[in-house]
Amino acid sequence: MISVLLPAVLVAACPAPHAVEDRPNVVVFIVDDMGWQDTSVPFHVDRTPFNDRYRTPNMERLADQGMKLTNGYASAPVCTPTRTSLMTGRAPARNRITYWTLNRNADTSSRHEDLLPPAWNVNGLQPGDLTLSELLADRGYRTIHAGKAHWGTHDTAGGDPTKLGFEVNIAGHASGAPGSYYGKHRFKNAKSETDFSKDTKWDVPGLERFHDQDIYLTEALQVRAVEEIDRAVADDVPFYLHFAPYAVHTPIMPNRRYLENYAELHPREAAYATMVESMDVALGEILDTLDRNGVAEDTIVIFTSDNGGLSAHARGGEAHTHNKPLRSGKGSAYEGGVRVPWIIHWPGRTEPGSASAVPIVTQDLFPTILAATGGMSGVPSGRTIDGLDLRPVLEGLAPDHFAERPIVFHQPHAWGPKGPGIQPYTAIRSGDWKLLYFHANRRFELYDLSVDVAEANDLAAERPDVVRRLAELLGDWMREAGAQMSIDRMTGDPVEWPDRVTLSSDASGNAPNEVKP
Ligand code: CA
Repeated sequence: MISVLLPAVLVAACPAPHAVEDRPNVVVFIVDDMGWQDTSVPFHVDRTPFNDRYRTPNMERLADQGMKLTNGYASAPVCTPTRTSLMTGRAPARNRITYWTLNRNADTSSRHEDLLPPAWNVNGLQPGDLTLSELLADRGYRTIHAGKAHWGTHDTAGGDPTKLGFEVNIAGHASGAPGSYYGKHRFKNAKSETDFSKDTKWDVPGLERFHDQDIYLTEALQVRAVEEIDRAVADDVPFYLHFAPYAVHTPIMPNRRYLENYAELHPREAAYATMVESMDVALGEILDTLDRNGVAEDTIVIFTSDNGGLSAHARGGEAHTHNKPLRSGKGSAYEGGVRVPWIIHWPGRTEPGSASAVPIVTQDLFPTILAATGGMSGVPSGRTIDGLDLRPVLEGLAPDHFAERPIVFHQPHAWGPKGPGIQPYTAIRSGDWKLLYFHANRRFELYDLSVDVAEANDLAAERPDVVRRLAELLGDWMREAGAQMSIDRMTGDPVEWPDRVTLSSDASGNAPNEVKP
């Protein structure tokens, strides 16, 4: 933008390979486990009681500047698959990173009575995998990671963000949760301080300067991120900031500075609300830092979450209700597991205060950020990228190639907690339809999300034509992507592809469907 104002001769004399407008800074602010309703910004058609509960004025500010995406998804209902999809542009099924990771060569899947998980990529992302951070570093960006990484396992290189293309790593490693949110606890489980035989893998690394201070983990990350933005601007280098607070993941620990704002809530819910508010304060600090440095108009800011809000356990009040009107929450096949807040401010491209209902998903950020920073160079031709470049959507269009494109969710794993839709499954969203395929009983459910965002009215029996069409689309997609199905314990064979299961003529949606020979 600046170069437009310069005399032509000065522009011509500039040796930089890209004009300023080709080298925007990019901030991805990806919250952990934040639900679609955990905000004062309404993402549903109507305001909800949750929109009145939570205080996120800086999300409101970002939404006023840019575009709110109301049908925005995380790639998966748990952490690592979404985070690695952002890094690779590929769906979890194609990466074969379909569940969360922790220790080298260890499968974290819970036990299921009838199914086993497939031989998935239990170590997650590793050096040599093509990553967004690596590509941006190659383009001369300063790549900065702050907070939760959770891309690869402990005792592997992928557990270290600096081995995956990040020049700066602030507090990221292989674990997906902090021992503690308190500086007074040194961000460790209080027990690991006094008993060194305790597991220390949840100790947050690299924040020693904040140890023993009255500071909340999100605040420490925000202080460091601000320092790194200031440093990049001072060095006159474009930056990619991947800001990923450990919050609002468990352990649910209040930031006491904000507790008085939530005195009327269940104590656990009040604590959770302070975690949300702390996250929002960090967003505000980052936006202020962009303003203060005069780079806000040269910076794309993207806000999202890595999966739906936790609701199956560890919350106050009734389980499975924390994402209403969405059904269920983190870990689930239903919308509560994967539909998340999305806001994008791209100066000069997004209309202030705009909204789009075009379905989008985390892996779309890979081609979108590459497009913003110089195109797809560095991505080998022929490499399949599942994400779509969001630029036309951000301009307010609803392009044909977005209209019915399949967004596939694939989790052939049992998650620990129990609840609605929390079981091994594959689902596809295409247009307004969503088809769910539960692996254990080969059962389908079908919802029209345009009128039933709560997934209360299963249309599988009523619309076998749609079930069949989507099952075929899904089966074709899965085979092409090399998706790995759950394994049937009885037979030792993979569960049938969705389009190999026939709906019986009186399919009720409650009885197991017949399997083709
Ligand atoms: Ca998460």
